[in-house]
Amino acid sequence: MSLAELIGNTRIKATLAGYLRNERVPSSLIFAGSDPYHQLQFAMNFAKALVCQKGSHFDACDRCRPCLAIDRGLYPDVRVLEPDGQFYRKAQLDELIATACQRPMQGERRVFILRDAQRPNESAANAFLKTLEEPLPSNVFILLTTNINLILPTIQSRCQILKFMPLSNHEVKLELQRRGVDPEKARLMAFFSAQCVEDLSEADWQEMEEKRRSMLCIMERLIRQSEVEDILLDLYDRSRGREAFIAYFREMVNLISVLLRDIMVLLVDPESGTLINSDYKEKLMELAALTDIDKTFFLIRKMEFLLRDIQRNLNARVLILEFINSYSPQGMAANG
Ligand SMILES: [Zn+2]
Repeated sequence: MSLAELIGNTRIKATLAGYLRNERVPSSLIFAGSDPYHQLQFAMNFAKALVCQKGSHFDACDRCRPCLAIDRGLYPDVRVLEPDGQFYRKAQLDELIATACQRPMQGERRVFILRDAQRPNESAANAFLKTLEEPLPSNVFILLTTNINLILPTIQSRCQILKFMPLSNHEVKLELQRRGVDPEKARLMAFFSAQCVEDLSEADWQEMEEKRRSMLCIMERLIRQSEVEDILLDLYDRSRGREAFIAYFREMVNLISVLLRDIMVLLVDPESGTLINSDYKEKLMELAALTDIDKTFFLIRKMEFLLRDIQRNLNARVLILEFINSYSPQGMAANG
C-alpha cells in the first residue's frame, strides 16, 4: 500500500504528502487519535514514502526492495517499538537512543515508530526528550498515541502534532472491503461495530450476527405479544450482574432501535432500498404489517428514552419493566 491508497483522514494525508513534496519532514511527529491500527497504517506508509527508492517525491512505489522489506517488517532503518509490558522501559529507550546516534544502515533516513507513546516511565521519557532536542537530520520519530494528554508537554512541544479523526461508517466499510470482506457484510459490520477497524474479525462478525438475530427474535415476540413472560424472566435473570446487564441492555435497545427504524422505513416506503438490516427485509415486512407509523414512532422514542435512562443509572428492574411495557397494548395506549 502507499500513502495515496490509505482510507480516511485525507487532510492528514495531504499534510504528509506536503512534507515529502517540499522536503521539509519534521524530525518528530505525534499521530494522535482513537484508532491505533489506523494511525500505525499511516505511520508505516509515511515511513515507506520516506525511504522508498523509486517512488515519486511524495509517495512510495510499493515495489522496490525497501518498500517490500518494510511491509514484511524486515527493513533495518524502519523500526516499530511498543512498550515492554505496561511501560517503555529505560533500557528499551536507551537502546533506541544509541541507535538514533548512528547513521542509517541502508538509506538516507531512519524512522522510529513508537506505539502507545504515552507510556514511558518518567526517567525514560526524560532521556528520550534529549534525543528529540538534538535531532539528527536522518532520523524521523513518529509517536502514536490514543491519549495525547498523557504525553509530557515538553515532548509535545518538540513534535509536529497531527490529530486523526475517527473513520466514518463509510470509511470503515471501504477499509473492510479493501481487506477482502464482501461489500454487504462490510456494510453491516461498519454500521454495527465500534469504529476500531483492527478489532473487526470473522469471530466478531459471527457474534454480531447472532446478536442481531436474537434481537430480531425478541422484538418480534414483543410486537406479537407472545412469550413476553420469557423475555421478562431472562432480563431479570441477567440483571443480577449489574455491569454485564447494563452492557447487554444497552446493546439490545440499540439493536432493536435500528430494527424499528427499518420497520419505519418500510411503513413509509416498502420499496425503499435504505434498510440497514436489508437481509431481514421479509421478516421486517411481516412485522410492519402488525403495526403502524404512530406506534413505531412511539417505540423508537421510547427506546431513546431508555438509552438515556441507562446513562442516568436507573434501577435495572425499572428499566426492564419500562422496556417490556412499552410494547404492551396498554403501554402504547397510555403513553402514545
Ligand atoms: Zn518503493
